[in-house]
Amino acid sequence: MCWLMPLGGVGVSRISEPLVFVGHRFVPGPLPAILLAEGKSASEHKRVEEHVPGGLTHGNWLAEMKFIADSMVGSLARWLRAMGQDVVYDPFMPDSMLMRRAREEGRILLTRDTRLLLVKDVPAHLFISHDGLEEQLAQVISTLGLNPKEEEFLTRCMECNGLLESVEKEAIRGRVYPYVYATQENFQECPDCRRLYWGGTHLPRLKEKLQRLLRFAREKER
Ligand SMILES: [Zn+2]
Repeated sequence: MCWLMPLGGVGVSRISEPLVFVGHRFVPGPLPAILLAEGKSASEHKRVEEHVPGGLTHGNWLAEMKFIADSMVGSLARWLRAMGQDVVYDPFMPDSMLMRRAREEGRILLTRDTRLLLVKDVPAHLFISHDGLEEQLAQVISTLGLNPKEEEFLTRCMECNGLLESVEKEAIRGRVYPYVYATQENFQECPDCRRLYWGGTHLPRLKEKLQRLLRFAREKER
């Protein structure tokens, strides 16, 4: 299954390259199989290396992918976070800041905004070519060769991307409903937005949804 979509397919003809990495194309597959499929000259390889922040090799960068999502793919951002992926998303972030953070932090821009792609020196990006969440997740996972691990599910705050930390039950007394406090033992807190998370009846359903989304993506890869 190939996810690469030429921009011409959405009615903009100026850029004819597939909208994956700037001027380049990833082929779907596991990470080691990611190739520059077109324009394999040394200078083109160098252009990809230029996107890699200092101190990281190209391989490390791919293995530790981080993302920044535009305002059109908020749901995708939240569910990638739920799978443990590092995704900056703020629907009010100006485009200029979005681009700057993508470059400075080595984040891959996930975008459905064709305007952004016309900007000179657009950072490394993946154009999200679907409307539905399941298809969008499948596109990101298969195109970039992501391998979300179940043990990393629900380790990030879905609201702000913070890495959750365990907190003592006593420390959060009064911050949750009495029924929750009385019936739950394990609590986690987002150090950034202070949101509290706990288990409960919805947790198995949430994990099942994540597993289902992942299965859907894996099936699309075949
Ligand atoms: Zn948070």
